[in-house]
Amino acid sequence: MQYDVTVIGSGPGGYVAAIRCAQLGLKTAIIEKYSTFGGTCLNVGCIPSKALLDSSEHYYNAAHTFQTHGISIKDLKVDLPQMISRKNQVVQENTSGIAFLIRKNKITPYSGIGTFQDKNTIKIRNADGTEETITSEKVIIATGSKPAALPFLPVDKKRIITSTEALNLPEVPKHLIVIGGGVIGLELGSVYARLGAKVTVVEFLDSIIATMDKTLSKELQKSLTRVGFEFLLSHKVTGASVKGKKVNVTADSPKGEKIALEGDYCIVAVGRTAYTSGLGLENIGIQVEERGKKISVNEHLETSVSGIYAIGDVIKGAMLAHKAEEEGVFVAETIAGQKPHINYNLIPGVVYTWPEVASVGFTEDQLKEKSIKYKTGSFPFKASGRARASMDTDGLVKVLADAATDEILGVHMIGPRAADMIAEAVVAMEFRASAEDIGRISHAHPTYTEAFKEAALAATENRAIHI
Ligand code: FAD
Ligand code: NAD
Repeated sequence: MQYDVTVIGSGPGGYVAAIRCAQLGLKTAIIEKYSTFGGTCLNVGCIPSKALLDSSEHYYNAAHTFQTHGISIKDLKVDLPQMISRKNQVVQENTSGIAFLIRKNKITPYSGIGTFQDKNTIKIRNADGTEETITSEKVIIATGSKPAALPFLPVDKKRIITSTEALNLPEVPKHLIVIGGGVIGLELGSVYARLGAKVTVVEFLDSIIATMDKTLSKELQKSLTRVGFEFLLSHKVTGASVKGKKVNVTADSPKGEKIALEGDYCIVAVGRTAYTSGLGLENIGIQVEERGKKISVNEHLETSVSGIYAIGDVIKGAMLAHKAEEEGVFVAETIAGQKPHINYNLIPGVVYTWPEVASVGFTEDQLKEKSIKYKTGSFPFKASGRARASMDTDGLVKVLADAATDEILGVHMIGPRAADMIAEAVVAMEFRASAEDIGRISHAHPTYTEAFKEAALAATENRAIHI
């Protein structure tokens, strides 16, 4: 079979690229090695983690806040198998939704591992061992990533686990040890902390979610501590071993003391690495970066071999589903002869803890590094009528604006529904709005979004009304 474009990998990068190619009239194929479409994000990432986060949040509220709302429940208990089965149902609905979109857009699906024979020929090894070969004028590599491993810490997938196993635990851990205070560790740690586990996070750096604005790290640490998290920051993990139903983790404290922790499960969440094995990159000489082994691409996301592009987690940049999606569209449109653009500075980052954390643009540290003069305005949710009504008063919105022009340079939020609220900041920044612009736009009352308006007013001329 001969195609205009073949996409390898059906995660949010790959399936979006394939759909956009088909929309642009290109004869398109997609190859996926797993039995379902959707990649990490739909099968073992974004979607199942959010399903469990939602369920565990309901439980936590029923146990801790319902009574204050005037609702009493007798015999409240966690039914983890049901929680996981609902999560699986959500995943199934989403992955079959992608299968529908692939059919609807007349994209030809292939099930198996795609390997380059030459730059236009791909061999597909199916699950039953049979092989077929297709040719394609252009190829988009969207093979994603897998959990990073620590060489001295063997994952047995039963007690020492990655995020994938953490989505299917047979019981609520009594003591869950999480190595890595990044997004995965805090989201999956939240699921089990809300269900009653003690969660100890061992983090190498001196703050959690270290790439985000420092204000957010500090606020989130305070909120998560209240839910049952304990944080060992600036701690270097040195090993872990399993004995029966127990996991022992050792670490060095900042003072050089040897720390020993005993838990029943340990999630290793220290980042993810590009997934390229089986692709046969060596057969056609596609270059990978020395550090991290990500596929090297130019400004058109084309690899070192012309006509072969790469997108998503397998290349540089944030490992986020929506970043992969933007790149999928970008490459499809580039192949079709258009001149698309991605503003990487305005890809928002979100952590789905409670309170949620969301961020776009520059952090204060980045502005200082760049010697850009800026002003700040912030507004705490405890001063928001909407937040008081829902009892979600943790957190704040912080707006960073250019000291001379008032243009918004960064927005950092921690609070209720921050994941959804950040979209307004992204739109504002795409249109290069000033803080005053936001301060002059009507925001419905009472909504959490008023906190963004108030923070913008505070940044403009310290003009916040409600604080
Ligand atoms: P992937 O989604 O990894 O898809 C790659 C696909 O390629 C896979 O299906 C794989 O089987 C297939 N493949 C690989 N090699 C071959 C081959 N040779 N032949 C055929 N097929 C192949 N991001 C967010 O933005 N928001 C979130 O809330 C979020 N939550 C997450 C939660 C967890 C627990 C994890 C692990 C990740 C989360 N992410 C989240 C990150 C997100 O999942 C990734 O950024 C995203 O999936 C990357 O998309 P991709 O298309 O590049 O690759
Ligand atoms: P991460 O990069 O967010 O965090 C890893 C953390 O582990 C870092 O804080 C790092 O300092 C720490 N670490 C590294 N080595 C360590 C060691 N030896 N001992 C102790 N700590 C160590 O990575 P992650 O949480 O594994 O997530 C992987 C990717 O998945 C991220 O890039 C993220 O973008 C994506 N993801 C996104 C979301 C979301 O958007 N909500 C959710 C989950 C995952």
